[in-house]
This record gives sequence, structure tokens and C-alpha cells, in this order.
Amino acid sequence: MFITAHVGPDGDTLGSMLALKFAFQKCCPHIQRVDCFISGRMPDVYRFLPGIQHVVDLETATDVLEQYDMAISVDCGSLDRLGPAQDLFKGAKQSVNMDHHISNKNFGGINVVVPTAAASGQVIANVLAEAGWPLDADIATCLYTAIVTDTGGFKYSNTTAEVFEVTAKLLSAGADPEYIYKELYELRPKCQTLLHAQAVVNAQYNPDSTLAWTQISRQQLDDLGATDDHVDGIVETLRQINTVVLSAVFKENRSGTTKVSLRSDNHAIDVAAVMEQFDGGGHKMAAGCTIEAPLQEATDKVLPLLEAQIREKTKSFAQKP
Ligand code: AMP
Ligand code: MN
Ligand code: MN
Repeated sequence: MFITAHVGPDGDTLGSMLALKFAFQKCCPHIQRVDCFISGRMPDVYRFLPGIQHVVDLETATDVLEQYDMAISVDCGSLDRLGPAQDLFKGAKQSVNMDHHISNKNFGGINVVVPTAAASGQVIANVLAEAGWPLDADIATCLYTAIVTDTGGFKYSNTTAEVFEVTAKLLSAGADPEYIYKELYELRPKCQTLLHAQAVVNAQYNPDSTLAWTQISRQQLDDLGATDDHVDGIVETLRQINTVVLSAVFKENRSGTTKVSLRSDNHAIDVAAVMEQFDGGGHKMAAGCTIEAPLQEATDKVLPLLEAQIREKTKSFAQKP
């Protein structure tokens, strides 16, 4: 079997993938191989995850079967977001789609999609519990990383009682919050902090500063020696400004296309719905897409829609008794 996830690995994709791999290897020893495929550069910050050395980039992998008995996708809302793994996924004898994106297209043979879950790691923790498969320290470390990253460190609105219930079990099984926190957040490269500073200084606002956005060019990343994953977190910093209800980051991809990240500050603005107009998706308050256009053109396409969302929201507030 193989496990894969959405392009551009993050804490939830990698943690979910590795936890499943460990669980299958432990509980189904007859399964000959459990390959883990990503596409895109592996962010250095996740190199502490147990088993990470077995996760390979499908585009450069040398030992790939032509067909697999079973394909599992984690943390991915649609087939096209699997990138180069799409054909392998479609060609597998059986396929499973395990996810928590509200925009999920149920593209698997079996679909385990729980939009109320904070992370795909939470979905997997529940599936393992239902199957009666035990946790161990490695599985717990991977699932904790998945949940802590997708809840912004247990801060976002997806942080429910159930998140803490699941997380408590992970701690009992050996996940170490202090160690994982340090690995994830206290070992930032200087170029990442400098990139954040530049992006915040370069941010632009609408007249009442309810909308904040910033553009990040390839040149800027290359000049700093920063990588794509170093952009993570900037869009949240802009949302933290007290007047801001919608924040956006536009990043120039190496291919010349533009990656858009959106965050809203409450449920009134559904950013996943906005991003679906560009074949993207995500969650109500955090969503993204890739637009096949240069940085400025993509920005000009998206900004009017964001302004319209804010106008509508203001109107609906005004109408409230
Ligand atoms: P990001 O802005 O990349 O941190 O992504 C925020 C959320 O939107 C995450 O749950 C992503 O999985 C999702 N997302 C980002 N880009 C896309 C895309 N192109 N298509 C669908 N969902 C996306
Ligand atoms: Mn993800
Ligand atoms: Mn996720």
C-alpha cells in the first residue's frame, strides 16, 4: 500500500501519514510495504518526526510500484491536490480518502471525511481507537504534531473538547508537548523571521483596515535564502491586527503561478467558499488556492472578491436587530 497527501507537506499531512504507516506496520505485519509519498519540498521543521526518512518525494522516488493494492490519501480535499500521486491513487485496487476539509470531494473508494475534526490526525486517532489499534510513542508524537499544527497550538476555533480528549490520549501514549513545541516553534531560521518582518512591513490595507494583504515574490524568498514553508504564519500575523477581518498572502511560486492563503477572523466570512471559485478550498476560516497567473494579476483577481465579502458582512451586521 501507499499513503500520500496534499501537495506541499505540512504538520497534519506528515504527522497523519507517518502515524498511519506506523499503525499498519505494527498491527498488520503481513502488509509487505507501506510507502509514503509527498510532492514538494519537505520543510526542515518536520525533520524531527519519527520515520520521516521514509517519506519520499514521488517525483524523485526510484522504488515505486506500477500498481498498489491500496492507496490512502490523508488531509487532501480533492484528487488534483494529490499532484503527481493522482494516477497512482486512481490506479490502486482500493482507495481510501481520510480528511477533514469541508471542501472534500469524496474522491476515494472509501471516504472517511469529518469536517468537524480539527485535523486529519484527529480523524486518524479516532479510526485507530475504533479499530482497537494501540497507540505508541511514535504514533502519538506524529498525531500530536498533526493536531497542534492545525489548531495553531490549540488556539483556533477548531479546538474542541474532543480535541483535548484525543490529545490527552496521545500524551498518555508518550507524546511530549514541550519537545514537539520546541522543534516546531523555537528553532526558526533567521531568514524566516526576516521574511515575516518584510512581509508585515510590505502589507497593504483597505481604507478601514478590515482587509490586509501582502505579496511575496520569488526574488524576495531567494534573496533571503527562505523557502516556501517559511511563508507559513504570515497570514495569521496579519489577521491578528484588531481591525482586520480578512487577511491574504499572495506568494509567487517558482513556476510563475501564485499561491493564495486566506484567513478570516470569524465564521461570518467563509473563505473556503471564496477559494472554491479558483478551484481551491480548505476550511471556513482558513483556505487557499493556486492561481495560474503572475503575482500582481492574481492579486487583482482575488482582492475585489475579498472586498465584496467584507461589504456583505458589514451589511449583514447592520441588518441585525
Ligand atoms: P494554507 O493557506 O496553505 O495554510 O491553507 C489553508 C487551508 O486551505 C489548508 O487546510 C489547506 O489544506 C487548504 N488549501 C490550501 N491551498 C489549497 C488549494 N489549492 N486547494 C484546496 N485547499 C487548499
Ligand atoms: Mn494540510
Ligand atoms: Mn489538515
